Amino acid sequence: LDFLAASDPTLAEILNSELQRQRDHLELIASENFTSAAVLAAQGSVLTNKYAEGLPKKRYYGGCEHVDRAEQLAIDRAKALFGAAHANVQPHSGAQANFAVFLTLLKPGDTIMGMDLSHGGHLTHGSPVNVSGKWFNVHHYGVSQDSEELDYENIRQLALKHRPKLLICGYSAYPRTIHFDKFRAIADEVGAYLLADIAHIAGLVASGHHPNPLPHCHVVTTTTHKTLRGPRGGLILTQDAELGKKLDKAVFPGSQGGPLEHVIAAKAVAFGEALKPEFKTYSAQVIENAQAMARQLQERGLKIVSNGTDNHLMLVDLRSVKMTGKRADALVSGVNITANKNTVPFDPESPFVTSGLRLGSPAMTTRGLGVEDFKEIANIIADRLLNPDDEAVANTCRQRVATLCQQFPLYPHLRIPVPA
Ligand code: PLP
Repeated sequence: LDFLAASDPTLAEILNSELQRQRDHLELIASENFTSAAVLAAQGSVLTNKYAEGLPKKRYYGGCEHVDRAEQLAIDRAKALFGAAHANVQPHSGAQANFAVFLTLLKPGDTIMGMDLSHGGHLTHGSPVNVSGKWFNVHHYGVSQDSEELDYENIRQLALKHRPKLLICGYSAYPRTIHFDKFRAIADEVGAYLLADIAHIAGLVASGHHPNPLPHCHVVTTTTHKTLRGPRGGLILTQDAELGKKLDKAVFPGSQGGPLEHVIAAKAVAFGEALKPEFKTYSAQVIENAQAMARQLQERGLKIVSNGTDNHLMLVDLRSVKMTGKRADALVSGVNITANKNTVPFDPESPFVTSGLRLGSPAMTTRGLGVEDFKEIANIIADRLLNPDDEAVANTCRQRVATLCQQFPLYPHLRIPVPA
């Protein structure tokens, strides 16, 4: 990083500011995490210089002998981690991974069924603003109004009615366990392919803290940067070798060009880390911390969607304290807590305002915080939200956030030199 300061002081200053921001804030965005220094090093490496269209040992460029080894390592580790027969580690992102699945299994005009965005689904599961909503005939399912959990019989009835060619499970804001076997029974009954998009829970699946979709789903996609704690990117897995070959072609040349071999190397590092016993301990702590935070928020009078969480995230339903997500987001951000406003199921507010706040534990668990620390975070959030106009409370909250950040340093050895 000394090189950067010398050649581009402007950018060095920007990177340094971002490092300070990450150090000084409590990061509660459920889809974010802090990679290891080893992952950062692999991604910031000479592999960024290499073109490698194709797959290991089947490339369209010379000089691929070393990136071949890195990519094969990532493939082998991904397969071992999830018990998959086939892995493609090239998707640049989760959205790209899903697009490659659509390109493999669907034609424009085909019917798909996924969770409504406002109930916790993802844009790529049929939102009208995404290609999945523009090219396909979309029907959505949601959660039940009573339990705020998936209602498999209702999903079955909708599937029987709409006969999707592709049924999608896996979500961006769903705090409960997903029963992939039940989804497979529905998919089989209506003759649909089943895709599990485990972008959020991949780390919990890899560590055995959430059921594995591989035995039940035709295809599994994920991001590599959330609970899995790798570099930003995507991954496609399947048990079906023939389908695997088609998926490979849909990634390249179907929808991408040269793979990002520096990112793939960083994925290999992260998968290697996730195969270690420490990652199991980390994932268990992620869930314990989320549950402790949810319980404490409930004790302080804040409603949690579906009354708790089985995974790394929760949704605070702010209608219980007559506040919007937009206002809550601004209040916590004012005391250096980073989270995001989010719709809650059956939200009366628009997606720009919302009635919810999504909170997650993966990033701060990586920093080393435990159950008592997460209770303190819940108390800080509650103090701020329940006293929105009290500046003295805001000041104390800021100090309590600073204390936690100092107690659990982030990248203590990382230094980004900036010219004076
Ligand atoms: N799928 C789900 C369920 C997600 O939550 C996300 C990201 O939030 C994605 C896909 C898209 O991932 P990316 O942002 O890497 O394209």
